Amino acid sequence: MAHTSMSFAVQASYLIATLLLIVGLKRMSSPRTARNGMLMAGVGMLLATVVTFAYLPGIYRLASSAAEQQGAWWHRLILIVIAITVGGIPAWWSGRRVPLTEMPQMVAIYNGLGGGAAAAIAAVELYSGRAYLGSLAFPVIAVIGALVGAIGLGGSIIAFLKLQGLMGSPRIIARNFINGVLAIILLALTIASIFPHSASYAHLSVDSLVGIFLIVSLLFGILITLPIGGADMPVVISTYNACIGLAVGFEGFVLQNPAMIIAGMIVGAAGTLLTVLMAKAMNRSFFNIWLSGFGDVKAAEAAGGVQQVMKSMDPSDAAATMAYSEDVIVVPGYGLAAAQAQHKLWEFVQMLQKKGVRVRFAIHPVAGRMPGHMSVLLAEAGVPYDLIFDLEEINSDFATADVALVIGANDVVNPAARTDKSSPIYGMPILNADQARQVMVIKRGRGAGFSGIENQLFFGDNTQMIFGDAQGVISKMIQALKEL
Ligand code: NAP
Repeated sequence: MAHTSMSFAVQASYLIATLLLIVGLKRMSSPRTARNGMLMAGVGMLLATVVTFAYLPGIYRLASSAAEQQGAWWHRLILIVIAITVGGIPAWWSGRRVPLTEMPQMVAIYNGLGGGAAAAIAAVELYSGRAYLGSLAFPVIAVIGALVGAIGLGGSIIAFLKLQGLMGSPRIIARNFINGVLAIILLALTIASIFPHSASYAHLSVDSLVGIFLIVSLLFGILITLPIGGADMPVVISTYNACIGLAVGFEGFVLQNPAMIIAGMIVGAAGTLLTVLMAKAMNRSFFNIWLSGFGDVKAAEAAGGVQQVMKSMDPSDAAATMAYSEDVIVVPGYGLAAAQAQHKLWEFVQMLQKKGVRVRFAIHPVAGRMPGHMSVLLAEAGVPYDLIFDLEEINSDFATADVALVIGANDVVNPAARTDKSSPIYGMPILNADQARQVMVIKRGRGAGFSGIENQLFFGDNTQMIFGDAQGVISKMIQALKEL
C-alpha cells in the first residue's frame, strides 16, 4: 500500500514537472513571457531532480539490504544537495555573468553536458548488465542513446571552443574518407555493444567494448565538427540539441522515467524545428552546412569584382536628417551586438521619438548569430515589444519609410537574395531596406557579412554609409541631436 502510494506520488511529481517544462517552453516563445517561462521550466527540473533522488529505486541500489534502504534517507538527502550544488551553482553563476554575445557557446556547452549525461546513464546500464536483462529494445535504445549522446558531447565541446575563439577550422585532408571509415567502425562497435556476448569479439569484456564504443563515438563527434566554420555553429548546435534531446528520451525509456522521455522528445522536436527553420532562413541545405564550408565561397567572392564607390555621411548629418523625418525603420544586425550598442541605440531612438518621429525596429529571423539574437538584444536595452516587428509584419512598410537605418546588418538586407540567382544567399527572404526613400548604413568599413559576399545596397543611389563602430557612431548621433 505504502509502495503504491509512493509510486503514485513519484509519477504525479513527474507529470507536474513535465507540465511545468511544456508550459515553460511555450512561454519562452514570446519576449514578454520568456522570463516567467524560464522560471517555470527551472522549477520543473528542480522538482524532477529532487523526486529522482528522493524516491527512485536506482538510488536504493547504493544500500545493500532493505533495512539499509529504508534507513538511507539521509544518503539521498546528501546526494540531492550535492547534485543541485554541482549543477546549480556553476549554471547560476555563468547564467548571470555571460554576456549575450557569448550565449551560443554557453548553450553549446550545456547541450554537450546533456549528451554526456545521456551517454553516462547508458554506460551505467550497459556496464551493470541491467540493459541486457529485458527485451532487445533496451540494449538497442540504450546503445543508440549513448552513441548520439557521446557524439553530441564531442561535437559540442568543439562548437564551444570555436565560438569562444579558442580554435579555428583546420582543413583535414581526406576528411570525408576518414569520417566514412570511422563511421563504419562505429557502426560495428554499435552492433557489438548491442550483442556483446554473441560473436567472436566476445573475448573483449563488455566493459572494454562499451568503453571503446564510447571513446570512438566521442572522437567521431569531434572530427565531424572540427572543419565546420564558427559562423555555422548555431545550426550545428541546434542539430546537436535535437539529437541530444532524443538521446535523453531514449535513456528515459531505458530507466522507465516518463519525465525524461517526454522532456527529451520535446527538446528533440524543438531542436529539429529550429534547425530546419534556421537552415531555411539562411537558404542553406542541412547537408551543405555539414559537408562544406561557407569559407570557400567567401574567398572566391572576396577575390573578384570591381571596387565600387560608397557615399559616406557624417553621424551629425545623419542624426539631423532623421530628426526631420516622419518615419524611420531601424534594421539591427550582428554588428550592433558586436559593438554592444543597443543601449545607445535606444537612447537615440527615444530622442527621435521626442521630436515626433515614428521609429520602428525590423527584425530578420537570422539577424545576428543565434535565433532571436536581435529581439533579446533590444529587450535587454528596454525597447518596448510593440516597436519590434518581424520581417513579414514590416517588410511592405519600407517603401513608404523616410529612412531605413541599417546598423551592423549586411546579409539580411542584401538585395542579391532577390535578384542574383548565382548568389549563395539567393532565395533567402530579406528586409527590403533598399526600398526606403533614404538608406543609412552604420558599419566600420567594407567588411563582408557572414556569407562573405558583396552587398549592392551599400552602393545604391539612395544609400549613404556612416563609417565607424556602431557604438561610437550612435554616441556621436546622440550628441548631434542634443546640440540640434
Ligand atoms: P552580417 O551579414 O554578418 O553582417 C554584419 C556586419 O556588421 C558586417 O558586414 C560588419 O561590417 C558589421 N560590423 C561588425 N562589427 C561591427 C561594429 N562593431 N560596428 C558596426 N558594424 C559592425 O550580419 P546580419 O546582417 O545580422 O546577418 C546575419 C548572418 O548570420 C546571416 O547571413 C545569417 O544567415 C547568419 N547566421 C545567423 C544565425 C542566427 O541564428 N541568427 C545563425 C548562423 C548564421 P564591418 O566589418 O565593415 O563593420
